[in-house]
Amino acid sequence: MTSSGQLNRDIVVRFAPSPNGLLHLGHAYAAMVAHDFARERGGRFLLRIEDIDQGRSRPEFVDAILADLRWLGLLWDGAVIFQSDRWDSYAAAVERLKSMDMLYRCFCTRASMRQIQEGGSPAEGPDGPIYAGTCRHLDRALAEQRARTEPHSWRLDIAKAMARTGPLDWVDERHGKQIVDAGKLGDVVIVPKDMPVAYHLAVTLDDARDGISHVVRGDDLFASTDVHRVLQALLDLPTPVYFHHPLLLDESGAKLSKSRDSASLSVLRMAGHDGYELVQQLRRNIFPVGISLS
Ligand code: GLU
Repeated sequence: MTSSGQLNRDIVVRFAPSPNGLLHLGHAYAAMVAHDFARERGGRFLLRIEDIDQGRSRPEFVDAILADLRWLGLLWDGAVIFQSDRWDSYAAAVERLKSMDMLYRCFCTRASMRQIQEGGSPAEGPDGPIYAGTCRHLDRALAEQRARTEPHSWRLDIAKAMARTGPLDWVDERHGKQIVDAGKLGDVVIVPKDMPVAYHLAVTLDDARDGISHVVRGDDLFASTDVHRVLQALLDLPTPVYFHHPLLLDESGAKLSKSRDSASLSVLRMAGHDGYELVQQLRRNIFPVGISLS
């Protein structure tokens, strides 16, 4: 509710962590921004656990996320949502994209892609170096035959997709209106070799399904939003408003990350620190020594 106590049913915001590690200060900041965005406007704040990567997701990390958010005083509305409850909807969307002929099989391995990239330096897309398109025009019958024995992913043919959708744009409340530029995306993976669905498709479907009006998340996902906008257009889904917030950086200017072992919230919580006070400081842009905002 707003300070005047009014509920605004049109505002729905989510925090969507992946339970593949312990949350750190950057997550506390992200959760605070999304939570406050919803509450200041009288909207709802949802928690969605993005556990599609079953190889890396762990129940103990889910437990830690819930405990961390409660400790921070960032409480969500309704039941916790789990992506792992939604495999059927992801599979249905994959089938729909295939029947629209928007996806193709890709047999490239990391090593073969690195080799191709050594010839030139491809621009960076949302998922790293832009894919060279090696498998885009493989003979279909041959691809089907190879698929019987070779692991493969499915990629979105972005040029074909945009030829179908026409020009697209989206609005970011912080960065302004954005025009989708297919040249900066490349053919992103929609179904990875070892997972039923990739982040881009799952998050796009879920934001629609959960009625998210405003996607509030970090600038690290800014480049991905063009992909999500294309998928929304292909699958007749609504386009939320976006708000990509700045990131917390360490002394070397790198964003805090699970893999860099940034101090976890659980450690602070269990050492008896005051989570509510921590969030109050983040709200005032007061950060621990060496940490700054991008
Ligand atoms: N699950 C993603 C992450 O933990 C965030 C997804 C999103 O906010 O769109 O990085």
